[in-house]
Amino acid sequence: MLITHANLITWEDPNRILEDYAVYIENGLIAAIGPSREMETVYPAAEKVDARGQYVMPGSICAHTHFYGAFSRGMAIPGAPPKDFPEILSKLWWPLDKSLTLKDVRYSTLVCLIDAIRHGTTMLIDHHASPNAIDGSLDVIAGAVEQAGLRAVLCYEVTDRNGVDGAKAGIAENVRFIKQRSAIRDRRSGSQNNRVPTSDQQSTIHNPQSTIRAAFGLHASLTLSDASLDACRAAAPEGTGFHIHAAESDVDEWDSLAKSGLRVVDRLHKHGILGPHSILAHAVHIDAREIGLLAETGTWVTHQPRSNMNNAVGVAPVESMMRAGVKVCLGNDGFSNAMWEEWKAAYLVHKLWHRDPRRMSGLDVTRMAVYNNAALAEAFFPETAVGVIRPGAAADLIFVDYQPPTPLSAGNLPWHILFGFHESMVTTSMAAGKVLMKDRQLLTLDEKAIATRARKIATQVWQRYTEQG
Ligand SMILES: [Zn+2]
Repeated sequence: MLITHANLITWEDPNRILEDYAVYIENGLIAAIGPSREMETVYPAAEKVDARGQYVMPGSICAHTHFYGAFSRGMAIPGAPPKDFPEILSKLWWPLDKSLTLKDVRYSTLVCLIDAIRHGTTMLIDHHASPNAIDGSLDVIAGAVEQAGLRAVLCYEVTDRNGVDGAKAGIAENVRFIKQRSAIRDRRSGSQNNRVPTSDQQSTIHNPQSTIRAAFGLHASLTLSDASLDACRAAAPEGTGFHIHAAESDVDEWDSLAKSGLRVVDRLHKHGILGPHSILAHAVHIDAREIGLLAETGTWVTHQPRSNMNNAVGVAPVESMMRAGVKVCLGNDGFSNAMWEEWKAAYLVHKLWHRDPRRMSGLDVTRMAVYNNAALAEAFFPETAVGVIRPGAAADLIFVDYQPPTPLSAGNLPWHILFGFHESMVTTSMAAGKVLMKDRQLLTLDEKAIATRARKIATQVWQRYTEQG
């Protein structure tokens, strides 16, 4: 496929904006880029997609989300409103996740994937919970992701809150799925045989790789005993990364100190959970020593400002973490898969929190949302660069119909995104070279049919949720 007449935003470092360029895609990868006129001569037989001067850029990456939470939209919480984070868990999320069957998990996931394709998010790192439907739940999610055609990293959250058997089932689901995905990955990379010579514009061509990978999910320090953390560490296959909430609320820190005499990050370090493949979501209440440990161990942190505001848990010390060398990424914690909305929340909330308009510049947001998210994606897809336009990178691309009313350059692009880009401007989305939405028409999922079915299922989920209360 040859995308022509595109204004390319490459998100290389440093970023480039290339006018009237073309992108040649083969086997799910960007094989070459060049001026449209030249490329049309080089690839005369290619199927052409005319971008008509739209911005063509890498799809957004979401570093932490929860597909299982989709049915919470518009759901009433019985009784007095939750007054703090522990009550938000006990009154909303825990009875909700217990209400999910495997069928509900599938539709909850599909609803989120439609939202992602529409809003230009082409890769998501999910953290799943359905305590009454654990076994096989990651296969159900993977099936939906494959049907949608997106790129994802999946895990199941192990927790003690559903008893010993619940924790064991969670561990088993992670291990089963991790082994399954690495077997698929080995099989596909073993079949790679069509290498072609490389040049400036022509990259090595691979067979399409699986777009789904696995991590080992843990809920949070506050719902995991030392024995459970050790059991997870022992069960996790070599090289596995963990994905866990950490210090989202100060309650997590106090609980950890009471349980172990250690702060959360120290406690996770003691149990072998940190490392260059592990993700800690939130890290709102960590102290200077914990920041140092995260930097030393190369552990990833994800920032979810919309969720932090909604739960009123505080604002993570993102700038301090990045200054200390911690790799901070941007997620959405189950909010809309419209990542520029998360950019805007990050840009604004740090200014208000610190009462200083110099805080969290557009460049800091870009560091998280673009470069660090792309680096995190590569930790899970090491054979393919993701989140950048260059030969050899994954063809995960979106078209944005944006008419800048002021000059737009590689240098001021972050502020155009923060003040001018909207996800409704995304007209076309593709992942691994497959077009998922073209001119705002979804090609892989039937939005109306899924929404109709999801509304019926949501009514049943809400009923079960209310009965639990
Ligand atoms: Zn979360």
